[in-house]
Amino acid sequence: MDGGRAPLAGLAMSIFARPARCRFCNSLLLHSLADLGETPLANAFVAPENLSHPDPVYPLHVRVCENCFLAQVDTAIPAQEIFSDYAYFSSYAASWVEHARRYAQEMIARFSLNGASKVIEVASNDGYLLRHFAQAGIPVLGVEPAANVAAAAQSLDIPTEIAFFGAETARDLKSRGHMADLMTANNVLAHVPDINDFVTGLGIVLKPEGVLTAEFPHLLRLMEESQFDTIYHEHYSYFSLASLERILAAHKLRAFDVEQLSTHGGSLRVYICHAAASYAASAALQDLRNTERAAGMERMETYQGFAARAVKVKAALLDFLENARRQGKKVAAYGAAAKGNTLLNFCGVTRGDIDFAVDRNPHKQGRYLPGSRIPVLAPEALFEAKPDYVLILPWNLAEEIRKDMAGIADWGGKFVTPIPMLRIWD
Ligand SMILES: [Zn+2]
Repeated sequence: MDGGRAPLAGLAMSIFARPARCRFCNSLLLHSLADLGETPLANAFVAPENLSHPDPVYPLHVRVCENCFLAQVDTAIPAQEIFSDYAYFSSYAASWVEHARRYAQEMIARFSLNGASKVIEVASNDGYLLRHFAQAGIPVLGVEPAANVAAAAQSLDIPTEIAFFGAETARDLKSRGHMADLMTANNVLAHVPDINDFVTGLGIVLKPEGVLTAEFPHLLRLMEESQFDTIYHEHYSYFSLASLERILAAHKLRAFDVEQLSTHGGSLRVYICHAAASYAASAALQDLRNTERAAGMERMETYQGFAARAVKVKAALLDFLENARRQGKKVAAYGAAAKGNTLLNFCGVTRGDIDFAVDRNPHKQGRYLPGSRIPVLAPEALFEAKPDYVLILPWNLAEEIRKDMAGIADWGGKFVTPIPMLRIWD
């Protein structure tokens, strides 16, 4: 399917030539979870002037460490290549903004945060979360590597350091008096190439009785629901509770509570403190440890067979598109999400299958999906083109999207979701 792709650039080859070792424990990575082939970076949306250049492609192969069970992509694209012009602005997803508001409310109440506290968010994006703490009069600090995204936060008076977070940044923050009563790392652990350096940094900035919450997609759910499209180069690591706890312990931190969230297809919010802090481990934490053990998350054979499920999803999607084409039906996509790009490129879907995609984010409109080269338009385009099927790429937001876009029923349009198995919504 990727026969026409350009060969890898020399820089990329030198990176990939290293033997793959676990980014946490340094064991050799010998076991495959899923090999998704060579694909462009999932957030490398193509500007019209670059359409004549082929997308750079990189191997996308997730392996599982047999020593610590951390699932991980075994090729590290330098983070600077990925995040310098990161197109994701958190505030464009309405349900995510609401998630952030509720989070702030809960944390303020649970940990009695006030004007004497400090909340630090790592990968603070456009300030979508910290603004809720700031509005409550609680001092905040964001750390965000993408300068254009950080500028959006600063324009809302959210103090934001433009930096990659790690031990060095943490020491710098601490030396300037920035230490956290609450630290937030939402959907950032997975994006960290050097997990040990990052977690070291978290420990440095966290006050002795401070609380760190980390949210990340739960590997157990990813595997149970065939969510292989949440695998992309920018997601270096895929955590179970057990693999995260092992990493925390190595850095004198520990989990004391956990919540299971519906975000991103099933996430964990883990509450973390220093190993010596006073927080007691919750029953929910022990329950989830037991659930993971029962599901075999610490046995290598559990991880075999996942790749075959991804191939089944691919076959179902290609069958659907083939049938639609044969019947002369028009198909558009909703949501130019990174996960959609993994899905479309793994399945070899192109503009011949899907006319266009729509997205509410104006930074993506007018560009093209990497690999598939499907144009991204504003949502209004759906109501002009009146496609027979609208394939929801961010299926984790399907409920919200189906509600927002219910108007497609006016011309008999139907929604389609691809994961965990293709479904046409009647
Ligand atoms: Zn390992």
